[in-house]
This record gives sequence, structure tokens and C-alpha cells, in this order.
Amino acid sequence: MVYLLHFDRPLCHAQHYIGYTESAETLPIRLDHHAHGRGASIMRAVTVAGINWHVVRVWPEADRSFERRLKDQKNSARLCPVCNILLDISLDVPLYSCLAQRKELIYASLQTRRQDDRR
Ligand SMILES: [Zn+2]
Repeated sequence: MVYLLHFDRPLCHAQHYIGYTESAETLPIRLDHHAHGRGASIMRAVTVAGINWHVVRVWPEADRSFERRLKDQKNSARLCPVCNILLDISLDVPLYSCLAQRKELIYASLQTRRQDDRR
């Protein structure tokens, strides 16, 4: 299983971490390691900096070579649902240009925003 972590604020220029773990059962253990700054050095730095992070996406069937491919692309933000929603709203991208699986999320987010505007 491959997972994507999104940091609440960037560390230097990094705002994501892509990791691999055996299965859904081992994911919580792996995340616990990250939370305590063990395992990956970037996660140690994130912990020291006091930056909160979240699991924003998982690929349940993916293996280590998939993890490698994603890391080599060096564009984790493109894979991140949090970053993409923020990006779409800030650029005022029309809904029809968004990927189908993201439409509902973005629409919900825009509706919330409109309700906020009315207040
Ligand atoms: Zn992100």
C-alpha cells in the first residue's frame, strides 16, 4: 500500500510525503513512527518543526515500484486532493474542467464558500 501525507504548511519547499507499507494493518504503525519522527528523515524534520500532517490518499494495491514512480515524478501536489481543491478554487477553474472524481468534493467546498459569503 502506498500513501500520501499532506503537511499543513510546507517544510522548506516540501509539503508532501509518499510512503509505502505492507498493508492497511501496518499503516497505523507506520504513521505512528512518522508521528514520533522515526523512519523517514523528512518526517523527523516535520515533527521537529511542529507541522501537522494528514493522510490524504492511499493506493491499497500499490507496491514499492509504484511508490518509486510517484516519487520520481516529483510532483506530489498534483496527486493531492487537498492541494488540488485549493488550487481550483483560487484559480477559479470552471467545474467542468475538473476530473469527475473530484467534482463532488469541489462542488461541496464551493457551496460552503458561497454560504460563508452570504453571512
Ligand atoms: Zn497537498
